[in-house]
Amino acid sequence: MAKLTFYGGVNEIGGNKILLEEKGTKILFDFGQSFNFGADYFTGWLAPRSINGLCDHFEFGLLPKISGLYSKEQLAKTDFPYSEPEISAVFLSHGHFDHVAHICFVDPKIPVYLGAGTKLFMESMEETSSFCDYKVHNYRTFRTGKKITVDNIEVEPVHVDHSIPAAYGFIVRTDESTIVYTGDFRLHGPRRDLTEDFLKAALNAKPDALICEGTRMARKDRRQNFSEKEVAQGTDRLVASSEKMVFVTHYSRDMDRFRSFYEAAVRNQRKIVVSPKTAYLLSKLGEDKHLKLPDPLKDDHILVYYKRKKTGTYSNGDYYPWERTFMGRMADAVFIHENQRKLIMDLDFYQFAELIDIKPEPGSIFIHSMSEPFSEEDLEDAVLHNWLKHFGLQFHQLHASGHLCKEEIKNVVKTVNAKKVFPVHTESPDLFKKISKKVQEPEKEQPYTV
Ligand SMILES: [Zn+2]
Repeated sequence: MAKLTFYGGVNEIGGNKILLEEKGTKILFDFGQSFNFGADYFTGWLAPRSINGLCDHFEFGLLPKISGLYSKEQLAKTDFPYSEPEISAVFLSHGHFDHVAHICFVDPKIPVYLGAGTKLFMESMEETSSFCDYKVHNYRTFRTGKKITVDNIEVEPVHVDHSIPAAYGFIVRTDESTIVYTGDFRLHGPRRDLTEDFLKAALNAKPDALICEGTRMARKDRRQNFSEKEVAQGTDRLVASSEKMVFVTHYSRDMDRFRSFYEAAVRNQRKIVVSPKTAYLLSKLGEDKHLKLPDPLKDDHILVYYKRKKTGTYSNGDYYPWERTFMGRMADAVFIHENQRKLIMDLDFYQFAELIDIKPEPGSIFIHSMSEPFSEEDLEDAVLHNWLKHFGLQFHQLHASGHLCKEEIKNVVKTVNAKKVFPVHTESPDLFKKISKKVQEPEKEQPYTV
């Protein structure tokens, strides 16, 4: 029989690490970092030392000791011996860090299967973020429709809609069992059809086990949630009704959200101003024609904001080579100040100091297009509101989640009707038990046969 072991994503949102084993073949599905990773021992600048490989992680039990998984280099300073690969493959469902981040520790001899678009996201992260290094791997890309055979196990990736493009669920067939893993997914996004395709395939597979995400499976979902269409319409209304600058802040890899703001700019005869990082990501994703995103080097509705660096004179040498590509599209603080009524500016919270140079007119609009803070004592949230108050910016909350709501999860579990259901990526796996008697709350590092 096939065996499933959950090394992460248990009683937590994110950090999925799921091991499937049958007849000696072992496959890992996702190898992400938990959101509260190491929070009991590390904070701020106190972080695991990269020079020490996995040693600092193992000290506090932050990563599982799985033999034949990690690279020689990462194990060198630990007391856990290196052995040749025992894991046949790693499959990544999508490019969010809570699903992929820890592959940097994985032995480069183990093939890593991922969506073609996910590969572009990961490359872009590595090229534009100094802290991001997934290390060298034997990457093998897939698209929906491809079936991948690893020894006696067949893995069929099927696209789903999520808050990052190129997200997949998996239908996995072993000699004796069929297992469906949802990854992260939603039904209220612009590509509902993708998730519907996946659910159809999941139902037809008559699975023995369903591994289902449950991010929004909470006792009380007090936070507001819109569909992507409602976010787009709400933005459109705000932009159309304002004579002033519109600032937006959102998750940088949510391209549906970017598109909503871009389209609002176009419809209202404004231009959208993005960071060099977003411009780079857009041009990179342009390689994937399926994604249909505008090209920042060709599209006149896009400008790129350059903040002052090094000499403070906007000279070429002040910027990384990848940033220089877009200097022909440069908007600086003076330009933004003078043209503020004709712009929508994508401004991340950590770039708020730029507001001092931009000097927005009081009464300008600020759209917070991310999850609302988890707690009322959120420090960053308090600082954000102090800045908005200081500059007289009007706050608006407009966000669509990347995940199914509670009712939709219930429907999926009932419809797919698997013989066993394992909730992952949720803080309340117990709530799944109210939906079906077939729910098995996974315990970390415990094997389950399916
Ligand atoms: Zn995700």
